[in-house]
Amino acid sequence: MMAQFLEIKSRHRDALLFYRMGDFYEMFFDDAIAASQALDIALTKRGKHDGDDIPMCGVPVHAAENYFHTLIRKGFRVAVCEQLESPAEAKKRGAKSVVKRDVVRLVTPGTLTEDSLLEARRHNFLAAFAEVRDEGALAWVDISTGAFHVMPCPLIRLAPELARLNPSEMIVSEANQSNWAELVPDFDAATTPLSRSSFDSTSAAKRLQELFGVSSLDAFAPFGLAEVSAMGAIIDYLEITQKGKLPLVRPPLRENAGGAMQIDAATRRNLEITHALSGGREGSLIAAMDRTVTAAGGRLLERRLSSPSRDVSVIQARLDAIEFSVTNRQQADALRDVLRKVPDMERSLSRLGLDRAGPRDLTAIRSGLTQAFTISQSMDASQIPTLFQQNMDILQGHDETIDILEDALVAEPPLLARDGSFIAEGYDAELDECRTLRDQGRSVVASLQMQYAETAGIQSLKVKHNNVLGYFIECTATHAEKMLSEPLNETFIHRQTTANQVRFTTLELSELETKIHNAGGRALEIEKRLFATLREAILSVAPRIADASRALAEFDLVTALADLAVGENWTRPEVDSGRSFDIQGGRHPVVERALRKQGQSQFVANDCRLTDGHDGAAIWLLTGPNMAGKSTFLRQNALIALIAQMGSFVPAAFAHIGIVSQLFSRVGASDDLARGRSTFMVEMVETAAILNQADDRALVILDEIGRGTATYDGLSIAWATLEHLHDVNKSRALFATHYHEMTALSDKLSGADNATVAVKEWDGDVIFLHEVIKGKADRSYGVQVAKLAGLPSAVVERARIVLQALEKGVSEAKTSPKAIIDDLPLFSVNPAPAAAPAQAGPSEVEEKLAEIRPDELTPREALQLLYELKSLATV
Ligand code: ATP
Repeated sequence: MMAQFLEIKSRHRDALLFYRMGDFYEMFFDDAIAASQALDIALTKRGKHDGDDIPMCGVPVHAAENYFHTLIRKGFRVAVCEQLESPAEAKKRGAKSVVKRDVVRLVTPGTLTEDSLLEARRHNFLAAFAEVRDEGALAWVDISTGAFHVMPCPLIRLAPELARLNPSEMIVSEANQSNWAELVPDFDAATTPLSRSSFDSTSAAKRLQELFGVSSLDAFAPFGLAEVSAMGAIIDYLEITQKGKLPLVRPPLRENAGGAMQIDAATRRNLEITHALSGGREGSLIAAMDRTVTAAGGRLLERRLSSPSRDVSVIQARLDAIEFSVTNRQQADALRDVLRKVPDMERSLSRLGLDRAGPRDLTAIRSGLTQAFTISQSMDASQIPTLFQQNMDILQGHDETIDILEDALVAEPPLLARDGSFIAEGYDAELDECRTLRDQGRSVVASLQMQYAETAGIQSLKVKHNNVLGYFIECTATHAEKMLSEPLNETFIHRQTTANQVRFTTLELSELETKIHNAGGRALEIEKRLFATLREAILSVAPRIADASRALAEFDLVTALADLAVGENWTRPEVDSGRSFDIQGGRHPVVERALRKQGQSQFVANDCRLTDGHDGAAIWLLTGPNMAGKSTFLRQNALIALIAQMGSFVPAAFAHIGIVSQLFSRVGASDDLARGRSTFMVEMVETAAILNQADDRALVILDEIGRGTATYDGLSIAWATLEHLHDVNKSRALFATHYHEMTALSDKLSGADNATVAVKEWDGDVIFLHEVIKGKADRSYGVQVAKLAGLPSAVVERARIVLQALEKGVSEAKTSPKAIIDDLPLFSVNPAPAAAPAQAGPSEVEEKLAEIRPDELTPREALQLLYELKSLATV
């Protein structure tokens, strides 16, 4: 057995080998050591190899999925090695034969299909990048849904595209393996190298033609060699990991690189589109927007938010459908009620394709298609928007499949096919008979007893059972004579005589005996066979079912976005091919939600109207205090553009947006120490990317660029960056800064305007109004905000003194900050009494205040007191 293990292991060195032994998967040697640590399970030993103990650990087969999950998360791959025959079959070849085993599947992050290993509302993409003669291409598949896509992808686009798709595993050619980290520095999912031969475009083309049963791939699209190579590598990898059992992959769809708004990895992170900065979904845009009621609808929302469209007509069609659902709320709500019952057909189909499905996957298809039919009947095709019309037809015409599944399956089947009891009564006569025998064996025997008693004319005759004889007929010795003579002896065959009883059997009874004995097993066999037939029936129409599932997801997304629009008071944006960017009463959907949850003050809606200068650019330079809401304002406008272009209503009272082709969002000074870049370096690399790429259709959000270095360096960089954006990139942009000196730029640049966030100052503190107005700020109120944050009062006081000295010195005496600092008295934790007003005792106002008893004052007296206090105040 060890020899067999070692042989199989030698073919799967990069994976943990789960070696099946009865009800357990066992691991040996280094695999056992690694797995026992990763899974926190006991490490034992078994036998010896070259004189040493063999380390071993194991997990029960029925719980294996959970262990796969942990191992995959920890970066392992698992090779599942099954027994390919029963021990009895092995014995036939000789007493010492080892049961045949081999790997039937490699479990890797990109090839999962089990619900328990997948997130219902997220795609699980496996991607491959290929290069042929300097042309690059990216292909990706979600084998849990069958979606298969490809696009030409020059190296420079690779990182942003991967950021968009967020694949859980990436296949790269050995040729790219060495410089992969350089190519996509942001990428941290599993990377699997494949040999160059897997990427060979000629054999890749053959592989694809065979899989899709076409003689030329031109049937799908005129793919370039790199695209064919990337797709071929994916299929090859699926063959390797699924051991020849290919999943249901849909014909490849070629994605048009120019069709989607381009958003790079840093922008996605920064805008927290599908993941919050903390890593989870909570706090992200998608979490605030997701009201879908099906998993496929949730995944569609993720796809749309990840790649907003640039096509005005596509966006309009989606908006029309949402508007229809907003206007016809009752109908839309009824639709959502039906959709709630739609299970995840795509994933069930995928498991059926890979022969990993259970009976509940069959019922999922049944109920999904039934709901699809209900929906198709609930709408009048002439009265619905185009997007709905396009999807209506696909929902119908599944009657045959529904009928088969209706007839065949019980209402609520068990999880596993091997447990049986999922085929409905009356569907298969033989199965019914088996089950009757199995379940009602006793009553069948009881009725035989009555029948025999009557035939023999012996009322006391009994049918009994014991482990030696099985079922037998028993009568007292007195009646034995009759049974042993003609004609009864033709039916009753003597088996045994005891002291008082004589025992018989009949042909019928021994047949029944065998039948009862085998009935359970036979019922399971028949159910297994019927399962396979039903599976085949579904697979033969799989593409149509997948289409129906996709159509349902579209209905779900539209009605969910309509529900969101009504619930959150979002409006339909105007989207066209111009350069407008006019948002009125815009809100940040995530911050608004968070404020509401905390029961805090209401979110203050703000306008943002970017108007082109005479040379093209349209930029707002936003200054204002810390904590005033600048970052929120910047991001909300980027998000509104993104939400509009994914085809949704937006969180604003009004929005007119000319298509944004590229969206960039950067925040100054965010660390990336893991990748060995300093804070400032990251900021500059990212800013460089924007200045090199943004064009006049881009929307650029820059938040405090240049703050990670010395004041004058930072100011100079921010200054030059803004000029470049204005003069060269000519983008629409929002630029927030604490360098108030920059507000002077708006006089020089025709497309630049100043805006600020209003605050009120009161008694040395600042009150945030969160209202964005035209104009400029002259202060950041940083010290006040620091005080609010709880900085020790001694530090706040000292900061005030330093700030005053700096401001005064620079503006009045025109001295350098250094000279001022040199002149400042040293900081002391316990300042001299003279310099510390806090030690001077209560002031007159304070003494007066202490005397006041508010409960005893009339309003008039209170007002009088107020005047008195005011007159006592020194300021
Ligand atoms: P800093 O300059 O210190 O980075 P900022 O001006 O960028 O600050 P934000 O981080 O955008 O400020 O906002 C600070 C907090 O103010 C937010 O967390 C939010 O709670 C609140 N806030 C921002 N905008 C609004 C708004 N429009 N209405 C209500 N509250 C808001």
